[in-house]
Amino acid sequence: MPSVMCVTGTVADTGLGLVLPHEHLYVDLSCYCPPEPQDSAAKAFYHEKVSPANRGQVVNNPWGIVDNTKLTSQETGVQEASAFAALGGRTIADLSPCPAMGRNPSGLLRVSAATGVKVIMSAGRYTLPSMTDEDKTLGIENLEALLLREFTDGVDRVRPGLLKTGFVSKIDDEAEVRSLRAVARVQGKVGCAVAIHPYIWGPLSHQILDIMEEEGCDLRKVILCHQDFLGKSGDYLDSLVRRGAYIEFDTFGSGWINDPMWQQTDQEKIGFLADQAARGNADHLLISGDMCMKIMFPRWGGAGYAHIPKNVVPAMKVAGLGGDMVHAITVENPARVLCH
Ligand SMILES: [Zn+2]
Repeated sequence: MPSVMCVTGTVADTGLGLVLPHEHLYVDLSCYCPPEPQDSAAKAFYHEKVSPANRGQVVNNPWGIVDNTKLTSQETGVQEASAFAALGGRTIADLSPCPAMGRNPSGLLRVSAATGVKVIMSAGRYTLPSMTDEDKTLGIENLEALLLREFTDGVDRVRPGLLKTGFVSKIDDEAEVRSLRAVARVQGKVGCAVAIHPYIWGPLSHQILDIMEEEGCDLRKVILCHQDFLGKSGDYLDSLVRRGAYIEFDTFGSGWINDPMWQQTDQEKIGFLADQAARGNADHLLISGDMCMKIMFPRWGGAGYAHIPKNVVPAMKVAGLGGDMVHAITVENPARVLCH
């Protein structure tokens, strides 16, 4: 029976239930913050903690306050994962794949143990700004060997269950391409899913799939994340599905944050799902919330992991997506792509 490695051990595909395939229980995205500003008011904001008092400013300038870009609290992770579980949620994939991005293997284990939520840890690298100097020079073979070791030996005795890498811009940075080639090779050997953060502002993912294919990757295990911005390019997304890849709309719940990445409303995203379903692609669609900032959680005025079962699933049904299709998108598709 196909299964996936969760932080507490192997889980069969039938045991995953409602899955959020792209979230962050722990993360550090401060590499994307601009340098400390000179202006005194902006500088003070840069060093503030996120609180109800500065929420309006954080919504409008989410990268201008470093604290917003870090999730380090086990208490918050447990609270939010529990809220998800209380609404029938069962599994969360944590897409922080390396120490530089804030991955916390023992923290994931503790959140899973405290809540009963199955947690899948990722392995890999992220985009160039998050790479260490060592990452930027690591050869394909070295990164491949390092990642394979994580799958066999674990990290702090926790084993990953999927791979991840990404591109901050077009498919031209050598370190990012090497990282892509390495995770594609590891996928071919391990068989697990591989999540790709592609260039999100243009239709360039065929180039990514070409490279992955060259390296022996099974494209039916590829998840193309953050396709929300390209949701209106229905023909393009359809052409990616034709090659086997899964299309993920994973910014549900964050359309109110002032950044182009999150500007689509949940209703627009549900429309993208309906468009792809009408093309016969319902079995290659995934949804998630990519909760990666403090402002995205209820404590600070946001939606949290509970948003999908609580609000998005009912909204999908109101929009006319049938119960079978909603079940496919939230339960069957993630189980099929994650398990091997
Ligand atoms: Zn993410």
